[in-house]
Amino acid sequence: MTRNLIHSIAGALLLSLGCIAIAEAELHPREADIARNAAQRQAAAEALLARVVDIESPTENVAGVRAVGDVFDGELRAIGLRTRWIELPPEMKRAGHLVAETGGTRGKRGKRLLLLGHLDTVLAGERFRREGTRAYGTGIADMKGGAVVMLQALQALHAASVLQDMRITVLLTGDEEDAGMPLAVSREPMLELARQSDAVLSFEAAIDGTATIGRRGINSWTLETTGETGHSSAIFGAERGSGAVYEAARILAAFQAELGSEKYLTINPSVIVGGTKAALDDYRGTAEGKTNVIAPVAIARGDIRYISLDQERSARERMQAIVARHLPRTQAMLRFDDGAYPPMTPTPGNEALLQVLDGASRDLGLGPVAALDPAERGAGDIGFVAHLLPGLDGLGSGGGGNSHAPGEYADLATLTPMAQRAAVLIYRLTR
Ligand SMILES: [Zn+2]
Repeated sequence: MTRNLIHSIAGALLLSLGCIAIAEAELHPREADIARNAAQRQAAAEALLARVVDIESPTENVAGVRAVGDVFDGELRAIGLRTRWIELPPEMKRAGHLVAETGGTRGKRGKRLLLLGHLDTVLAGERFRREGTRAYGTGIADMKGGAVVMLQALQALHAASVLQDMRITVLLTGDEEDAGMPLAVSREPMLELARQSDAVLSFEAAIDGTATIGRRGINSWTLETTGETGHSSAIFGAERGSGAVYEAARILAAFQAELGSEKYLTINPSVIVGGTKAALDDYRGTAEGKTNVIAPVAIARGDIRYISLDQERSARERMQAIVARHLPRTQAMLRFDDGAYPPMTPTPGNEALLQVLDGASRDLGLGPVAALDPAERGAGDIGFVAHLLPGLDGLGSGGGGNSHAPGEYADLATLTPMAQRAAVLIYRLTR
């Protein structure tokens, strides 16, 4: 290749890169207005976050969850949304859910959006505390920060006089961290709102430069094995067989050997007991057995995580097939719990939403947004509706620390950029 040719290719590349850069820097004037409005709300957003973090709202604290809901209720009504509280049956011991709607009248153009978040936290006890741009406090990352980002985005759209025409429904659930049972009752309102929407945006904590297009589902299982008991010297023999502990060990080892390398599928035995006597409730067990006696019973419990309902079904079938190959003179039974969290399976529809978000983020000068590896995020509320409509998650505040553990924090410097990103995304989806 001649030097001239190289120069002309380089020149063409520079030209085309230049064009892209100019296009990227372009926001619609209305979008620029929305972004400025979001930035003006930074101090108010920080103050609101401090206020709601200092209202303790672990799922079981029904009054606390409701009090956090009341704060958001007031904020949402202040920007013109109609709000209502959905009560759940008292025996469920859950606070219920807050719903807010714009009631926009804009024709059939643009998507109807469901914005999703939760009011409850896992723990309690850590008050709001600032260190530089970091703010600590129970549930601040998961996800009071995300609920504040959602509100800040809606306020920015309201200030630009575009919110009232949009068809947006906000659902803040009161029991995401420990959903009320039966799920068919506690999650029905979410399903109903999803059926009236075209896309769902969930504001769980953001993870650096990513959004979530897939979250794994989760369920729990119990394995119970039984066998003959008797003098230990008779084990392996035709009369006594292998005993219940070997049968449990065989099954668990086969789960790992035969299913352990499948992408996005994990099976975790979390607790096991076995012996002459063994008992196990949800997560606490007792067992006893002398070394010279063959164990007649063993019980294990654990979870299974999966990226799609097909993967779950296939895994269950293979697990049951493993269970059925009993060792001599043993029996085994594998039971899955009710109340599984369904997965959010990555779909082309979710990818398409991610493309719009990525474009909005670049145009705001906030950099690209990539899909988060589904292995890096647990199950969430969005999984209950992900089969009904395309969605994105991880649109909330950025931060760090372990969620569901003391020391979680939100990075206050992420509130405005995340609100700007969400607001422009919403604006573009509702055009
Ligand atoms: Zn959460």
